[in-house]
Amino acid sequence: MDVLICGAGIAGCALALGLHRVGIDSRLIEARSSAGPEEGAFLTIAPNGMIALAALGQPGLVEAARGAAVSGIEFRNAAGRRIARLDGTGDRARYGATSHLVRRGLLREQLLVAVREAGIAVEHGARVAAVRETPGEATVVLEDGRELGADVVVGADGIWSQVRASVWPDAPRPAYGGVIDCGGWVPIDLPDSRAQQMYFGRRAFFGFVVHRGTAYWFSNVPAPEPARGTLAKIDPAAWLERVRELHADDPAAVRRVLDAATTSLGAWPIYDLPSLATWQTARVCLVGDAAHATNPSAGQGASLCLEDAVILPRALRDSPNTAIALANFTNTRRGRVEQIVAMGRRIGTRKASSAAGSRFRDLSLPLFLRMGASATHEQYSYRVDEVDPLAHGVG
Ligand SMILES: Cc1cc2nc3c(=O)[nH]c(=O)nc-3n(C[C@H](O)[C@H](O)[C@H](O)COP(=O)(O)OP(=O)(O)OC[C@H]3O[C@@H](n4cnc5c(N)ncnc54)[C@H](O)[C@@H]3O)c2cc1C
Repeated sequence: MDVLICGAGIAGCALALGLHRVGIDSRLIEARSSAGPEEGAFLTIAPNGMIALAALGQPGLVEAARGAAVSGIEFRNAAGRRIARLDGTGDRARYGATSHLVRRGLLREQLLVAVREAGIAVEHGARVAAVRETPGEATVVLEDGRELGADVVVGADGIWSQVRASVWPDAPRPAYGGVIDCGGWVPIDLPDSRAQQMYFGRRAFFGFVVHRGTAYWFSNVPAPEPARGTLAKIDPAAWLERVRELHADDPAAVRRVLDAATTSLGAWPIYDLPSLATWQTARVCLVGDAAHATNPSAGQGASLCLEDAVILPRALRDSPNTAIALANFTNTRRGRVEQIVAMGRRIGTRKASSAAGSRFRDLSLPLFLRMGASATHEQYSYRVDEVDPLAHGVG
């Protein structure tokens, strides 16, 4: 079997590794010619994502990408008072792994190293324009006019997936979450924080972690939906100024991190993907953000990509034919990913309303978080290595 994966992001690279592990050949095509190590700032891989990486045979990959163990979250209000805490100290004992914060560009770089070491071909600068399907084959049409055939085509091309647009033209469009995320990292003279520090500031939500003299920070700036592509034209220094103004009346720790910052690494409008009626045909399937992008507030987008990368290869290996394998895969994943997308949206809405700064929010947040803690426990305790796609599948 030959699988053609469109998109060499976290989902695409991880899937190629997962397929290699079960003895299925794949190739990757990627629109961009290269990506820098500072691309996309940083993200957190949750314990379930770390378990998935181990199942992909890459337990040391996050370490190679200089990831830092983080555990737990402390929430504070605009006065700096701690209003809630998610304890993460027992995560390793409970889930077999702890969360890790990792620079996105370095993670992607290490994934590509692992892909190349496995002998998997990656073609950069190849942009998918359309996907066609016949009973015997799926064909990717590239923007340069070439046509590439394969037994299975996987769209791992992110939230604005062209594979999705081509195969499911009526699929819902990503939904804007009301904030623009920006952030970066900066050297700082503060002790390690270990737990992520989150502030419901007066006008915007702010978060940071300090690890070995570096503060990793982000701010969620409430804003109307920007036209696509316009944010890239805004000077990062101007963004930083805007963020400083928004947090000018927030606690000293927030201002200290922002005073040290020299630039924002970028600005990303936050979207999630409403539930798709279907994300597989007989020979085409979606994974990662192309299928189930979540609001980053869930802290699960990358981890879900890694889980997909374990389960889809097993479904292809174990099911009687390709069409059933792809259906088994989506049946296995749908319940879990939809629950997480819904949770991410709820948390994102809370953060977007940070500006309200209300006393009601301070009072209700501990209850909201207690409910969130049990959802988080469910997410973290998912052992992808124990999931059998045939048990949830159609055949
Ligand atoms: C600001 C922000 C913070 C986040 N924080 C976290 C976090 O803390 N924890 C977490 O788990 N997740 C987080 N996420 C989500 C996480 O980054 C995504 O879930 C994950 O990167 C999705 O990976 P992907 O490979 O599916 O998509 P992408 O990373 O978008 O990769 C898609 C790839 O496909 C390529 N491509 C696109 N179109 C085409 C085409 N037509 N032809 C060929 N190639 C194409 C792209 O160039 C890209 O390389 C965050 C997201 C954002 C925006």
